[in-house]
Amino acid sequence: MTQKYGFTTTILHSDRQKTIEHGAPHKPVHTSVTWGYSDARQLAEVFQGKQSGYRYGRQGNPTVSALEDKVTKMEGGLATICFASGMAAIGALIQALLREGDHVVSSVFLFGNTASMWQTFGGQGGKVSMVDATDVAQVEAALTPATRMVFVETIANPRTQVADLKRIGELCRARGILFVVDNTMTSPYLFQPKTVGAGLVVNSLTKSIGGHGNALGGALTDTGLFDWSSYPNIYDAYKRNPQAQWALAQIRAKSLRDFGASLGPEAAHHIAVGAETIALRMERSSASALAVAQMLEADPRVSAVHYPGLESHPQHTLAAELFRSNSYLFSFELKPEIDCFDYLNRLKLAISGTHLGDNRTLVIAVAHTIFYEMGAERRAAMGISESLIRVSIGIEDTADLVADFKQALQA
Ligand SMILES: *Cc1c(COP(=O)(O)O)cnc(C)c1O
Repeated sequence: MTQKYGFTTTILHSDRQKTIEHGAPHKPVHTSVTWGYSDARQLAEVFQGKQSGYRYGRQGNPTVSALEDKVTKMEGGLATICFASGMAAIGALIQALLREGDHVVSSVFLFGNTASMWQTFGGQGGKVSMVDATDVAQVEAALTPATRMVFVETIANPRTQVADLKRIGELCRARGILFVVDNTMTSPYLFQPKTVGAGLVVNSLTKSIGGHGNALGGALTDTGLFDWSSYPNIYDAYKRNPQAQWALAQIRAKSLRDFGASLGPEAAHHIAVGAETIALRMERSSASALAVAQMLEADPRVSAVHYPGLESHPQHTLAAELFRSNSYLFSFELKPEIDCFDYLNRLKLAISGTHLGDNRTLVIAVAHTIFYEMGAERRAAMGISESLIRVSIGIEDTADLVADFKQALQA
């Protein structure tokens, strides 16, 4: 899709460029779960895919469609399906696209719940190889004839490892393997996975796209780059669509219609309004994240800071090449004499809470919370130390944030 305007202009005016009720600048919230047709034959044609239209709220809704269109524009993709959460979008990959005996190569540096999801797939007869995706050779070595997809995050949450996205994309293209990128940590404002050959892009809309911590949502975008005719798991029913639409047609049926993890119209509205300011919020929070990370790195009471914006980060140069900025998330470790919980309790602005990509700065001791269930051994494999603190910087004034993280060092 060629875009005439810049990122924010495009999103702001996206609804208006389609039919818009009464000239409203936002797509209104449609709460109906069904739609009536004056001609019963028309309803049959909608069901048969011969004309477009809404059937039942589980499969689609005008407010949700407007958001899907917006996410598609943000990602420069072909089409998008929204889900009730980011995890529902990732679950849809397994449910709609993978079968028993299939193999997935996944980055080992992964959002904890996604790692748990791969464990579930393993229990259902799938196979998953977890590899260090900062090294394309490890991805290549793990490929088998049964490999159906390679799955990576852009900047891994929480240790901020940056996957070797370009080379993995080239590898997948050469082997005809579907490349799936979870773009949540960067968001389409900082990075479009389409530019490195991703076929499908995952976004948790709950995080920086919505941005205000008031609605859950997720999305899968088809970039149009993957040739679905080479993918073995598409049912004949969905091959009646033009080939580029096979995967999303199957996902919409198998994961939305049959599984029902649908995004509600009110949540879609909150997310769409939040998305209007993502560029402004990301600029601010990325700049503040760099300022706070630099302050912490320079302090002798801090033993390590993990942030791609710092020169000390192993993928600093790669991140600068790939991303518009380094995002709002970093993690750090204190010297052993400072207890991480005591430090967190001394922070006055930053809120101890899970979640990220919010307007408000959030902090959490990851090994004891979101990564607790998986145990010490798997945490160690993911580079997560017991005292690691994850920080998601918000849009507070930069000086206030630097001061807060500094005063808390002074016991
Ligand atoms: C939060 C997150 C998800 C899951 O999104 P939810 O909307 O919370 O379900 C997936 N991937 C990454 C990288 C995340 O940070």
